[in-house]
Order: sequence, then structure tokens, then C-alpha cells
Amino acid sequence: MEYFYTPPDRIIGDALVIEDEEFAHLTHVMRRSEGDHIRVVDGAGQAYEVRITSVSRKSAHCVITERLGRIHEPSRELTLAVALLKNGSNVDFLVEKCTELGVNEFVPLITERTIPRHDRRDRWQKLALSAMKQSGRCVLPRVRPMMQFSEYINRAPAETLRLIPHEKITEPSLQETLGQGTKSVEVCIGPEGGFTDGEILQAVSAGWNPVSLGQRRLRAETAAVAATALVLLQP
Ligand code: SAH
Repeated sequence: MEYFYTPPDRIIGDALVIEDEEFAHLTHVMRRSEGDHIRVVDGAGQAYEVRITSVSRKSAHCVITERLGRIHEPSRELTLAVALLKNGSNVDFLVEKCTELGVNEFVPLITERTIPRHDRRDRWQKLALSAMKQSGRCVLPRVRPMMQFSEYINRAPAETLRLIPHEKITEPSLQETLGQGTKSVEVCIGPEGGFTDGEILQAVSAGWNPVSLGQRRLRAETAAVAATALVLLQP
């Protein structure tokens, strides 16, 4: 099943318009035309079954035939903060994989051991969009502007469960700390060189829980995917 995207402001009553890159994909790549039935997601939590009623040079007009609601979304909400990595393609990888798994929001971080790199926010936002459609989600994860570690740590809402995986501790595991019924989770992953002891202390005093992801030292992108799977695939 192929999903197409249109933002909420392109949906009015039972009518919906597909434009720009999505329009090109719909008509030129997927070769869909008038009369075809397709599925459209709005990135804000709604999915629709629609029929294409007309195709002009720049847009496809559709009528909603069924409102599918919030489909294929996990029951927990996860914000994933990740220190920028030396190799940008590792961040690309984790944005794509973690979107498929159901992350709600990404926060690129600058930490003490981050080697400053270009901000590739637009690229990550695009990758998140195509991973959302690919996986059949209807929520487009937002990529927030880059932030300093200390600012993020202190700003994360206190009512969420805040987990900071750290390879220097052996317990508790992320799974133990998660518990059941936790609806809103934040996970913060360090850079290649890890977090400094000072950063972990700072996080603890702000209410964060250091957790282990097992005995092996994982690469940051592996840690991000593993932590996301543990948070979002458990009931
Ligand atoms: N400082 C380490 C490697 C850091 S790994 C070194 O070079 O020796 C990058 C990030 O992945 C860490 O900051 C942590 O958030 C996460 N991570 C990797 N392995 C982990 C583990 N076994 N348990 C918890 N977190 C881990």
C-alpha cells in the first residue's frame, strides 16, 4: 500500500489537494490519475482513503471517501534527542529507522564531546517524511532546531519519563526503568565519545534516569535504534 502526503491546510471538508513534490510522485512516478483510489496521510495524525477527481498541471484534487483516523501509531510518544555525529550519514540512518519505529520528535544536540558539524535539519525532515509514508504512519516526526545539551536537559517536561542511556553503568536497564503505562518518554543519546561524567551528573540533578542498554558498547546510531525499539515496541 502506497501512502501520499498532504499537509492539514490542504484538506478542507471532504476535499483534499496534492501538490508539489507529492504531486510529481503521484502522477509521474506512481502514474496515478483521475478515478484512482489512494491513501493520504496529513502528518498530523490523520489518514484518509480518497478518490482522485481531477488532475491539473500542478495539483491533484481528491474527494475523501473514508476517514481512517490515527492509524499505525505507537501507544507511547517518544522524543529522541541525539548528539550530532561526526558522520552525517549515521544521523540520516537513525532518523530514517527511528521514524519507521514510531519516534514523534527528534532533537539534534550539541554536547561537550560533539565535534561541530553542519546542521542538516531540512534533510532530516525530508528523510522523516519519506520514512513516515514508507512505514504507513500518519504522524510526521518533527525535527527540532539544534540545541545545547544543558538547555535540552533542563527544558524536557518533568512529567515525561526521561532516560539517558550511558555505557558506563550496568544497571538499571532501560526496560526496567520504563515500567508499564508510561505514555510519554524522552531518550537522550550521546556522541561517539559518549557523555562526560559532568553531563550525566547534570542530567541526574535535572531528574533524568541513567539507563543501560546492555553490556556491549554500542555505536550511537545503534543505541538510538535499540532504545527506540525498546520504548515503542513494548506494550
Ligand atoms: N564513550 C564511549 C562510546 C559512546 S557510545 C567510548 O567511546 O568509549 C555513544 C552513545 O550511545 C552513548 O553516549 C550512550 O548514550 C549510548 N550507548 C552506547 N552503548 C551503550 C550501552 N551499552 N548502554 C547504554 N548506552 C549506550
